[in-house]
Amino acid sequence: MDCIFCDIIAGNIPSNPVYQDEDVIAINDINPQAPVHRLVIPKKHFADVTEIERAEDGALLAKLFATASRLGRQSGGGFRLVVNTGAEGGQTVDHAHIHVLSGRFMEWPPG
Ligand code: 5GP
Ligand code: ZN
Repeated sequence: MDCIFCDIIAGNIPSNPVYQDEDVIAINDINPQAPVHRLVIPKKHFADVTEIERAEDGALLAKLFATASRLGRQSGGGFRLVVNTGAEGGQTVDHAHIHVLSGRFMEWPPG
């Protein structure tokens, strides 16, 4: 399967993880949309978060959310978690992930 995040997780593409354990990895986004922009990614391939829900892996969903929240809190100020899902939702990489954005004021509503 052709998946950039699976290649990163497998180590085929070098990355500098800010966190990882047996289930999840967190990396800096290659095209940051805020001073701090991290991606929290399950090591197992799921096309999007709805596929994790369909697999009834609530523990993984909880771990992704908890990891993203912890990384956001570590940034010191406020933060925003974003889950783009499907093409219309702005998803461009079809491997589930949560964006963690911080370090600037987050306008609302988003574009
Ligand atoms: P999406 O649009 O699917 O919600 O987010 C995908 C994110 O992955 C984008 O913010 C994009 O910049 C990031 N991205 C795409 N390719 C790479 C890569 O090779 N390395 C890293 N670190 N981030 C990537
Ligand atoms: Zn993948």
